[in-house]
Amino acid sequence: MAVPKRRHSKSRKRIKKAYFKIAPLNLRACPKCGTKTRPHYACVECGTYKNRQIVKIKEKKATPKDA
Ligand SMILES: [Zn+2]
Repeated sequence: MAVPKRRHSKSRKRIKKAYFKIAPLNLRACPKCGTKTRPHYACVECGTYKNRQIVKIKEKKATPKDA
């Protein structure tokens, strides 16, 4: 089995690891309610996409703590 000839320095290791950084999510404001949503996805808050109602959003149930 092939074995690495030399170990990577801390700098080499960190330069390599820097490429695996997770890019932040690309978010757009929903035209109806203004919450941040992913492009090409229906809005999580109001369930609209391109100003059309796509998904029915259930009303949040009131918990005993709220009353
Ligand atoms: Zn919305």
